[in-house]
Amino acid sequence: MTTPASSSNVTGAAGEQVAAPAAGSISARAPAIRLPAVHLILSDAGCQPLIEQYGRTQTTDTARALLAELRAMLLAARQDHAIDSGDRSGSVQGAVAATDAATDIPALLAMLAERLQNANRANLRAVFNLTGTVLHTNLGRALLPDSAVQAVAEALRWPMNLEWDIDTGKRGDRDNLVEELLLELTGAEAATIVNNNAAAVLLMLNTLALGREVIVSRGELVEIGGAFRIPDVMTRAGAVLREVGSTNRTHLKDYAEAAGPQTALMMKVHCSNYEITGFTKSVELPELAPLAKQHNIATAVDLGSGTLVDLEQYGLPHETTVRETIAAGADLVTFSGDKLLGGPQCGIIVGRADLIAQIKKNPLKRALRVGKLTLAALEPVLALYRAPDLLPERLTTLKLLTRPAAAMRAQAELILAPLQAALGGAYAVTAEAMNSQIGSGALPVDQLPSFGLAIRPTGKASNALGKLEQRLRALPLPVIGRVAQDALWLDLRCLNGEQQEKFVGQLALLEQAGA
Ligand SMILES: *Cc1c(COP(=O)(O)O)cnc(C)c1O
Repeated sequence: MTTPASSSNVTGAAGEQVAAPAAGSISARAPAIRLPAVHLILSDAGCQPLIEQYGRTQTTDTARALLAELRAMLLAARQDHAIDSGDRSGSVQGAVAATDAATDIPALLAMLAERLQNANRANLRAVFNLTGTVLHTNLGRALLPDSAVQAVAEALRWPMNLEWDIDTGKRGDRDNLVEELLLELTGAEAATIVNNNAAAVLLMLNTLALGREVIVSRGELVEIGGAFRIPDVMTRAGAVLREVGSTNRTHLKDYAEAAGPQTALMMKVHCSNYEITGFTKSVELPELAPLAKQHNIATAVDLGSGTLVDLEQYGLPHETTVRETIAAGADLVTFSGDKLLGGPQCGIIVGRADLIAQIKKNPLKRALRVGKLTLAALEPVLALYRAPDLLPERLTTLKLLTRPAAAMRAQAELILAPLQAALGGAYAVTAEAMNSQIGSGALPVDQLPSFGLAIRPTGKASNALGKLEQRLRALPLPVIGRVAQDALWLDLRCLNGEQQEKFVGQLALLEQAGA
């Protein structure tokens, strides 16, 4: 933080004339350069819009910092000049000339405006997701439908009945806002919502298996994106992992032999981001749940992506739904709100009423609960599932996953020429078929036929693709593609009509950046 008072000695009323700290070291032939005083910059008519937008304090501090940097640069250039004495090499001359040019007020104001703009640009920004991964964890996963966007905006502006029962005027429970819908969509008895699915798994294990064993197949000790690993979450939850079977084969008798009075849960984890193929055997829920019941042990399933409808009806590969999992005998199911469900980031636990009641009493629930924005977004998304026939039109995630290849192809052909023109002769752009992924641990092996643009360098320039990626990232709306097989692939599945206009609109800047 700059303290305006402490820098007042630097700006002094006498102006910003550069005083050489050690006059003897400066050549007499060095050009005399003056910087205008801060107050002259601030009182210039051209500075008023900046003061209005960014405030007087910030504008003043930024102007001071800018002048201080220019002064340092100037002194360095003069000293270099002195050392070179007579031999004015191009670089020194260049530095001095550049500083000279920077010292008039319009030039300083332009620099000041740029600095203020950069400093005030949000860190969280919109980008183009042309990676081909629809639910991209690093790009924020599901995009939400307008009904959810509007509900969130209203929740931001208005007090809401988050924990207040309008009918009775008494204190309510935030989970109740979406519980009924969740029960209707999953067939479960009760539901509760937390911050994400990792939190859901943690809370479930900590509540039901603290100091006791949880039986999991060795083939299901999943790691999701590095930070979430079933064995680690188990430890942090205070539960004891009891691994059974082998990586590729686990039998019912493995579970049966491990079950005992020390067992709190039998747990199945969805292999969200890998597939075990070949000589394999796993125990499916319809087999496992009755065994657990015999031993009076609850069965939990970490389902990951949380599909609420049969995706096959939309031409997508089958993914086990929450309803199927409950029907197959799971006592508890945990899943994410922002994967295939297509809602906001949250973790949902559904299942037996007595177990959910225990989970809700755990003090950790208070630490992991969701805020009003999440619930505001989740309710309208869940409501869309009441009309499954309209879902591909209304639920953004499903709309993107079911986009016809022909639409993407037409889009690719439209964008090809302007993109090629912006990139010039150093790159060749072609419209090509490619494959998209659902992403975020949903259907990891299945790929969706898609269409987009492939960009290949035409020459032998080193790191041409890296430079291209960098240029695309430097745009006001950064473009994120995928590099593979000596090409940059821009999958157009996630580029909607509005975004397409913006994409083409900023291509002129790409051209300038390349020049
Ligand atoms: C994605 C996933 C998680 C983590 O869910 P988040 O919502 O990212 O916390 C946990 N388990 C499985 C099986 C998953 O697929």
